[in-house]
Amino acid sequence: MSEQRNGGDDEEEMTLSETTDLVILGGGSGGYACALRAAQLGLTVTMIENDKVGGTCLHKGCIPTKALLHAAEVADSAREGESFGVKTSLEGIDMNGVNSYKDGVVAKLYKGLQGLVKSRKITVVEGTGRFVGGKTVEVDGQRYTASKAVVLATGSYARTLPGLEIGGKVITSDQALTMDYVPGRVVVLGGGVIGVEFASVWRSFGAEVTIVEALPRLAALEDEWSSKQLERAFRKRGIAFKTGVKFASVEQNDSGVKVSLENGDTIDADLLLVAVGRGPRTSDVGYEEAGITMDRGFVITNEQLRTNLDGVYAVGDIVPGLQLAHRGFGQGIFVAEQLAGLDPTPIDETGIPKVTYCNPEIASVGLTEPQAKEKYGEVSTVVYDLAGNGKSQILRTAGGIKLICVGGKDDRGPVVGIHMVGARVGELVGEAQLVYNWEAHADDVAKLIHAHPTQTEAFGEAHLALAGKPLHAHG
Ligand SMILES: Cc1cc2nc3c(=O)[nH]c(=O)nc-3n(C[C@H](O)[C@H](O)[C@H](O)COP(=O)(O)OP(=O)(O)OC[C@H]3O[C@@H](n4cnc5c(N)ncnc54)[C@H](O)[C@@H]3O)c2cc1C
Repeated sequence: MSEQRNGGDDEEEMTLSETTDLVILGGGSGGYACALRAAQLGLTVTMIENDKVGGTCLHKGCIPTKALLHAAEVADSAREGESFGVKTSLEGIDMNGVNSYKDGVVAKLYKGLQGLVKSRKITVVEGTGRFVGGKTVEVDGQRYTASKAVVLATGSYARTLPGLEIGGKVITSDQALTMDYVPGRVVVLGGGVIGVEFASVWRSFGAEVTIVEALPRLAALEDEWSSKQLERAFRKRGIAFKTGVKFASVEQNDSGVKVSLENGDTIDADLLLVAVGRGPRTSDVGYEEAGITMDRGFVITNEQLRTNLDGVYAVGDIVPGLQLAHRGFGQGIFVAEQLAGLDPTPIDETGIPKVTYCNPEIASVGLTEPQAKEKYGEVSTVVYDLAGNGKSQILRTAGGIKLICVGGKDDRGPVVGIHMVGARVGELVGEAQLVYNWEAHADDVAKLIHAHPTQTEAFGEAHLALAGKPLHAHG
């Protein structure tokens, strides 16, 4: 077993079997956030990680993909420079250069995180842990026992479909992040967040992209209006997509892959990216054997993130719900605060903001229109087109903001759904989440003065419209 001790002055006194207040299995977003907050609140922590602290988000997820998406935006700017009167052209994509930029971002953040973990005197055990019941995790025959709680945070892996084997030219996001070339033609299986983000990157880098999605629309977890906006924008960008059609099989040959669909269509490409979702990493870790209540591989918890076993909590992607890094962080912090005797407020999943960083971006918080109708009965909606916004015109982006509030024309209640599509709308989600989480009414937001020229003005205008006030024009 290799073990890294970050205990500073306490290092000598620690023994391998020493009990700490918390034992955390998994050092990703959920696990390390819990560790850092618990240590900050004076608890002793052992965190077990068999790869790199930082987990999927830092090493194989959010950060590297967003670096690729930024490189893609730079490529688009170079390609489109002339339309802004700037003489640029895109000579090509040097994937080694892109990767060294991306890896540099990850390395810097990783170093910072390692420093933080060390400075909080968190003991990091490098190795594969297995929960063995009680409050104990075993790593290579060595047991680590918690006096207060074990926190399970083993995260997720890229799923595939039955019979669809990953290998060669059939890849997942893990391999897609380390590619040293841009594929000429690529099929992306899955039009969810990861699928549309890679489709967007590769298109900007010059590839012919086809997305295949079994559900009737791209980004199907978002409000249907957002999906339609995205589909329109993707069509304009030349990203092909086939929705409502299922994958049948794939053949690999010398020149690439032949993807067959259930409707009889076939698509030839260099690569098939399988982006059909992420499964919980909960097999071979002892959860089921220890009697933890599970559902289809996910760990079931209550609102306090407790499992059915005393002193055993779970956070992050192994808990059913949104598989997002900031949700995992929030859950980790929530558990740490509970264990330190504070009284944190349970997390409202609906109040967690979602951003998909493709071009154009999708950002949302709260309920979709059907969800809002189901919960509240009568709702009112408004769509504000970004065509009316100065900054959006400067950026040359299309899209809009859709708002949903409770009640009808004469009794409008709080805003319960905010859905945005357009360049950089992810940056507007901070205000959107305040509106939702503070149960603001459209009128409350309409009173605020938004900076000009920003897209936040469109946010304000949309609320003005929902509040039934005349629209301003901010040219
Ligand atoms: C391509 C991609 C892009 C993404 N983009 C975004 C984004 O932009 N924004 C966003 O919010 N989310 C994004 N996500 C999702 C985000 O990465 C996850 O929601 C987040 O990482 C979940 O955190 P976690 O702590 O539950 O699990 P993980 O980050 O997966 O961490 C679990 C850790 O546990 C370790 N581990 C597992 N089993 C064991 C064991 N038995 N012993 C020891 N260690 C173990 C693993 O090595 C891993 O480090 C993206 C994901 C992917 C794949």
